[in-house]
Amino acid sequence: MKVARVVEYHKPLQLQEAPEPQIEGPLDVIVKIGAAGVCRTDIHILEGQWESKSGVTLPYTIGHENAGWIHKLGDAVTGLKVGDKVILHPLVTCGLCRACRFGDDVHCENSAFPGINADGGYAEYLKTGARSVIKLDDSLEPADVAALADAGLTAYHAAAKAAKILRPGNFCICIGAGGLGHIGIQVMKAISAATLIVIDQNADALKLAKELGADHVIQSGEDDSFVKQVKDLTGGKGAEAVIDFVCEGGSMKTGVQMLRQAGNYYVVGYGENLNIPTIDVISTEINFIGNLVGSYNDLQELMILAAQGKVTLHTSKYKLDDFQQAIDDLSAGKVRGRAILVP
Ligand SMILES: [Zn+2]
Ligand SMILES: [Zn+2]
Repeated sequence: MKVARVVEYHKPLQLQEAPEPQIEGPLDVIVKIGAAGVCRTDIHILEGQWESKSGVTLPYTIGHENAGWIHKLGDAVTGLKVGDKVILHPLVTCGLCRACRFGDDVHCENSAFPGINADGGYAEYLKTGARSVIKLDDSLEPADVAALADAGLTAYHAAAKAAKILRPGNFCICIGAGGLGHIGIQVMKAISAATLIVIDQNADALKLAKELGADHVIQSGEDDSFVKQVKDLTGGKGAEAVIDFVCEGGSMKTGVQMLRQAGNYYVVGYGENLNIPTIDVISTEINFIGNLVGSYNDLQELMILAAQGKVTLHTSKYKLDDFQQAIDDLSAGKVRGRAILVP
């Protein structure tokens, strides 16, 4: 089968021929890839940023946002049949460890992460485990949802955590209405009655946020005047929740100023350091909460919202052979929505 592989760090991916993955264990599942999302993490992998973390040996196939059709099933797999449309939770998990038993798939003690530390979905076929497979509603196609498997899942995980605590009349701020943010906005509007304020530097992103149902949109700029706008909207108190999809370029410094006493700051993006005087943390009892991908159940819930038409994702399709174009376009900021590779 055709695969796009990392052969060396700091070098372009190479299109190669590789053997198809085979069923080895009774719960193995082979999926015929319908689409694989092209993620910024893929670029970071090529830059060697994940080399020491993943410990993967080269060459290997990347692509961790995958959806497609069931191709082959291990003997012990039930409830799935060849041809079923599916999206894949990005991790392959054991189901036996303590984290798995809590439904906390991401922290499984015996996991593999196809596309990060095992062969991924820039290929015609991918091997995963039965625990990672979610059947798609008839109304959804693999290419429509593949990129929700990581980016969308991460946004859902953070928004759902916030929504669990938020009450009608509370305020939630989303910082960033880009790739993850525009999913987070749709999720918040679907599952929470809190008033949603979206902040972004980009006027087009805010226009989209408004179309997606944001109650208020505020453009951030060089000065901090947008902080006062938020304070005015929230009766001078700030928001109960800030979901920061950016966490770069000083977003946390102003983000914290918009957080109400005892509020929760959800860290989703990454880049800048958290630099808050501890006296401010204890005197206000604010909380900082990290977010990493999401659980199987998170992804299943997100697929329900997708099937109900409450979360939609704009995608730009590329043939697998044109992987370099997709990566170049993503690097240059030229992709509208999310780029996906279709074999
Ligand atoms: Zn990703
Ligand atoms: Zn486990």
